[in-house]
Amino acid sequence: MRVLKFGGTSLSNVKKFFIVKNIIKEKIRNEQISVVLSAPEKITNYLVESIQIAKIKKNLVQLHLIESIINKFLFELKKKLSPKIFEELKKEIEKEIIKLKTALNTVSSLNQCPGYLTPIIISRGEIFSILIMNSILKSENYKVTVIDPVKTLIGIGDNLNATIDIDKSKNKIKELKIPKKNIILMAGFIAGNKEKRLVALGRNGSDYSAAILSVCLEAKYCEIWTDVDGVFTADPKIVQDAKLLKFLTYSEAMELSNLGATVLHPKTISPLSKFNIPCIIKNTLNQNEEGTIIKNFSEESIPSIKGVTSLNNITMFSISGSEKIATYNLTRKIFSKISQKKISPILILQNYSNGNLDICISDNELEKTFEILKNELSIELKNTLINPIKVIKNTAIISIIGNKFQLKKNIYLNIFLGLQKNKVNILAISKNLSQNSISIVIKKSDVIETIQNIHHSLFNKNYKIIEVFLVGIGGVGNTLLNQLKKQQKILQHKNIHIKLCSISNSKKTIFNEKGINLNNWVKEFQKSKSSFNLNNLLEKIKNNKFINPVFIDCTSSEEIAKEYVNILLHHVHIVASNKKANTCCNQLYQNIRLTAKKYDLKFLYETNVGAGLPVIENFQNLLNSGDKLIQFRGILSGSLSFIFGKLEQGISLSKATIMAKELGFTEPHPQDDLSGIDVARKLLILAREVGHNLELSDIEIESLLPKNFNFNLNLNDFFIELKKLDILFFKRIFEAKKENKILRFVGIIEKNGKCKVKIQKIGKSDPLYSIKNGENALAFYTQYYQPNPLVLKGYGAGNNVTAAGVFSDLLRTLSYNLGT
Ligand code: ADP
Ligand code: ASP
Ligand code: MG
Repeated sequence: MRVLKFGGTSLSNVKKFFIVKNIIKEKIRNEQISVVLSAPEKITNYLVESIQIAKIKKNLVQLHLIESIINKFLFELKKKLSPKIFEELKKEIEKEIIKLKTALNTVSSLNQCPGYLTPIIISRGEIFSILIMNSILKSENYKVTVIDPVKTLIGIGDNLNATIDIDKSKNKIKELKIPKKNIILMAGFIAGNKEKRLVALGRNGSDYSAAILSVCLEAKYCEIWTDVDGVFTADPKIVQDAKLLKFLTYSEAMELSNLGATVLHPKTISPLSKFNIPCIIKNTLNQNEEGTIIKNFSEESIPSIKGVTSLNNITMFSISGSEKIATYNLTRKIFSKISQKKISPILILQNYSNGNLDICISDNELEKTFEILKNELSIELKNTLINPIKVIKNTAIISIIGNKFQLKKNIYLNIFLGLQKNKVNILAISKNLSQNSISIVIKKSDVIETIQNIHHSLFNKNYKIIEVFLVGIGGVGNTLLNQLKKQQKILQHKNIHIKLCSISNSKKTIFNEKGINLNNWVKEFQKSKSSFNLNNLLEKIKNNKFINPVFIDCTSSEEIAKEYVNILLHHVHIVASNKKANTCCNQLYQNIRLTAKKYDLKFLYETNVGAGLPVIENFQNLLNSGDKLIQFRGILSGSLSFIFGKLEQGISLSKATIMAKELGFTEPHPQDDLSGIDVARKLLILAREVGHNLELSDIEIESLLPKNFNFNLNLNDFFIELKKLDILFFKRIFEAKKENKILRFVGIIEKNGKCKVKIQKIGKSDPLYSIKNGENALAFYTQYYQPNPLVLKGYGAGNNVTAAGVFSDLLRTLSYNLGT
């Protein structure tokens, strides 16, 4: 005998009913099969809501919704069943709908739902399922025995959350003397009490029905068929990379389901474990996957972690103010009353040193518990021996479940690394004495992100992931995409997974949370009709709950730079080749840094000065190690480095500029280089690193172009005007030569923070003397580096080196990503 239970997710439409039928057909070849069915997906929710609506609004809208779902089923079934069987089914279903209507009308006229009626109403879905499956099996000529759980399973206790008396139920089922060849069919979720009235087994209770039936029929296996491949290390709907647990012991499964793994109802495992019946969790839509097997495995000697779960609708009562609260008598008084009222606290935390007592209960027991606490503590409250009871609503309990896991290396460190990632506020922590679980109370709104972070730090610590959101696909952005494509596989071998989730320019965007294929992004981008909107992108990032999202700005847009604070507030790192954020007003500059610091995020902009040269990181390291800047001098522009090199060879300014433009060294309009503003921006960035609170306007710039130069010329006219300056520059070169010097365009920061960009005459001993052909050089004269400065030199422009710089910033965001 094997019991198969199919949940609502496996019964959401007629097609799925037939898939279930095929599974039964396959299994019946080897042994007798019992089938326990839940209600078709969502029906129980609608039924529960229908009671509330009938009570308050006195209408039956939910009933109409249910009717329309069932009618859709009937419409499909008509094509698949013989007319006779179909007509019988239709009649039975109509009878049930009328019963339901009558019951809801009673609720509506009484303004309340009598206790006996609630379980009857909310279990109609299971009855529909049994009627439908019975017809399908009958139409294929199977012999079916339908067990009525109200007559056979003896429920005790709460009529919405009853427990089943196994011995009595087993005798009742034996009395049925079911023929060995028959398929047994039974509705889940319900039983009958002493008075033979229908009682329910609690939401999700069909799993429990299946476990009970397995025990009563002495089944070899109890199989729970659902919409996931088995029990995972976390809810796979929340954690994309949760891992399937192939084996679990009964106690592990019990702990997981008690603490929130909804794949199994908490009461399911206990009877199976008592009678040693293995439980298998399988996916109705992926039958080849073996699923999870739960049974008694020999004691695991290796400490292990099995999963992260959450219970979401929790209220925490916090009682404080006197050591007396922790005394034996007072706590005993509170808890005996709580258990008398059948309230089961989920977590109790008691601090004997300061007398604090925290009790976590399920939200639906809030009022009852609060009453008890107020009554039992009335004297202490009246005499202000204790503070008023704090009721903390909207909380959740996250639990980490495993085996002797306190012995696992770094376990607590990893849990806290996960918790600190979204700076979650911990309300309470409790370690289970059996050492099999740790529970943490947090705000409900933090649950999803916290589960993802803790799961990542516990299970995928060596699996490093970066989700990239790229804006700007000009020269640098495009080259970066090529570099990413080339490196993606190689990095995967190092366990670094770069997932490009969106590509945008000022007009369009493409987004794929699973990762855009870099081999055909161009086509996809061309086809895209979605326009780019930063707030939409941030909303998507928020909703998809990425692990390590990084926004890359390869634009030169001031508008985007002004959004960096907003981006950081969405817990997204920023890597920018765009200089605007660092050269805008000081206020923005400071806000970005404060926000990044507050949320422990990275804002990296190594390519802002010297493109791929490691300028910013080295400079920051130097300053962090206590060194002091005495003076900085540098050639910070690739185009001006090239032009001044050519001037030195006797080439005119205008010709050198044309050559620089042709070789791609200059900005689209070379006046942007010659005006010196680009160098000034880079200088400002370096000066701000030292701590000087400067604005761009504080930098003294000696432009190559005279003050009265017309900046509105097209390129042709610009070069005609530029030609007029050739003589002047020949003269200046000549003057310098007389002193054995050459000219260089230099950015200077003095010790007092004064910044200048100017044409300097420099001699052979100067470290900037040999810099030409587009190279950059940065000379840091510091307390440690003197009289000879620390010099960084190399190509400071070009798409390849800049994109490589952005790439290395991107990888640096991983140092944040736990444990590295
Ligand atoms: P059914 O209708 O089959 O009873 P449920 O919705 O009750 O289905 O249970 C299956 C769901 O349980 C899955 O879709 C999944 O989202 C959720 N779930 C929660 N925690 C876990 C976990 N640790 N492993 C697998 N599934 C889980
Ligand atoms: N249909 C019931 C519910 O939704 C029982 C179950 O699915 O197990 O809670
Ligand atoms: Mg379920």
